[in-house]
Amino acid sequence: MARIVVVGAGIAGAAAAYALRGHTVTVIDGAVSVGGKLRTSSFGGVAYDEGAEQFLVRTPEALDLVAALGLDAQVVHPDASRAAVWSRGSLHPLPARTVLGVPSSVQSLLGLLNVGEVVRAAADLAMPGKSPRSDVAVGGYLRRRLGDAVVDRLVDPLLGGVYAGRADELSLFATMPAMRADPSAIRSARAAAGAADAGPVFATLAGGLGQLVPATLSASGAQVVTGRMVRRIERTALGFRVVHGPTVDEQAVDVDAVVVAVPAAPAARLLADVAPLAAAELGGIEYASVAIVSFAYADPLPGEFTGFLVPAVEGRAVKAVTFSSLKWAHVEGALVRCSIGRAGEVELLQRSDEELISLAAADISAMTGLPAPVESRVTRWGGGLPQYAVGHLDRVERIRAAVGLVPGLAVCGAAYDGVGVPACIRSGYAAAACILAPAAG
Ligand SMILES: Cc1cc2nc3c(=O)[nH]c(=O)nc-3n(C[C@H](O)[C@H](O)[C@H](O)COP(=O)(O)OP(=O)(O)OC[C@H]3O[C@@H](n4cnc5c(N)ncnc54)[C@H](O)[C@@H]3O)c2cc1C
Repeated sequence: MARIVVVGAGIAGAAAAYALRGHTVTVIDGAVSVGGKLRTSSFGGVAYDEGAEQFLVRTPEALDLVAALGLDAQVVHPDASRAAVWSRGSLHPLPARTVLGVPSSVQSLLGLLNVGEVVRAAADLAMPGKSPRSDVAVGGYLRRRLGDAVVDRLVDPLLGGVYAGRADELSLFATMPAMRADPSAIRSARAAAGAADAGPVFATLAGGLGQLVPATLSASGAQVVTGRMVRRIERTALGFRVVHGPTVDEQAVDVDAVVVAVPAAPAARLLADVAPLAAAELGGIEYASVAIVSFAYADPLPGEFTGFLVPAVEGRAVKAVTFSSLKWAHVEGALVRCSIGRAGEVELLQRSDEELISLAAADISAMTGLPAPVESRVTRWGGGLPQYAVGHLDRVERIRAAVGLVPGLAVCGAAYDGVGVPACIRSGYAAAACILAPAAG
């Protein structure tokens, strides 16, 4: 039975601890409570998610974990068929079966784009070329294949929703591996969309997604320590010394193995001595900040759509709006969740809570006609989402290679192989497997 510290009690760290159950595991987090970007609190009289609000069910990890924890009775699915895009003064249904905004048919673009833009996108089907052999920016690649309108009014807003990132910066290979299938972006999207089975795409827990991490940690049997930042990880003759807490109250724990499940910047600091090459690579991963502005309205919400994306070219502060009470049957009242902050929008997020509230409320009012909200809240996620820049997959390979040189050390979390909840769970399991593999061998 190994003694293991997991640094970071977000979903990745919790999943690692769960996979390591049976060993002596201590999970240490610097925040006052566990969960990281999964946090549920009361708003508008209901349990409301301030960070991640849903998880993908087309990959099994999150749903399987939920079932293993006995939370499956709480699983609810949204009505995702009624998502929209705000474009040129009105809401348009989001084309069905896209891969992060890349359409799987030309016809699905009609209405959202003008005829000239649709014809330009259709050129992709006849355009010669090879599917990309080396990584490129999503924007550069897709602007050439499909034209600017598809990128600006579909791909960029969808990438903004998932990564808070910009199409012209993000890696094609890391964010849209499906585009490697065929030189035609539309045919690649069609193949990927065709492979996806019918049925719901997302789910959440009726009592809030914030329950997932505490439930996972409780099932893991790990000891959980909160409010203690891990400050250093040192090598010892037999393993590692993990030093945590403020300088005036420093404590150290000696263990056989360590899983580092924190974002890239703190991971870089913690690995500086034990895996300097990995630390240097982690230091190069940038993050985008996000603010979630939540509103409760006295009036009923407009009923046609469950939410909409707002392309950056529209010049609005909000980048996504979710009519939570329409999207989720279990959310009572008239609650709306707005997301603000695309990579690079530093000045916007430096504004006060009051300014963000009035900007978001004005945007919503202008786009939907809703009057002023009766209750508002701002949740800031500084450095909330890692930006998978061109070359990200190679960078992650170099990080894993450098970490792999140190037996008993593993890393996991959103910085590596996907920012979504299932991907983070998968990375937590993989980190646990790395730790256990030498013991098993
Ligand atoms: C606003 C927002 C909305 C999102 N919505 C969705 C969504 O709907 N669906 C989805 O799938 N994904 C969503 N995501 C992405 C997803 O929530 C995150 O990528 C994921 O939860 C990250 O999990 P993690 O365990 O890697 O890291 P985190 O959740 O960041 O956890 C890391 C933990 O490490 C701790 N920590 C950091 N440094 C130290 C240290 N030195 N010592 C000790 N502890 C430390 C932190 O306190 C934190 O608890 C969203 C993200 C944001 C920001």
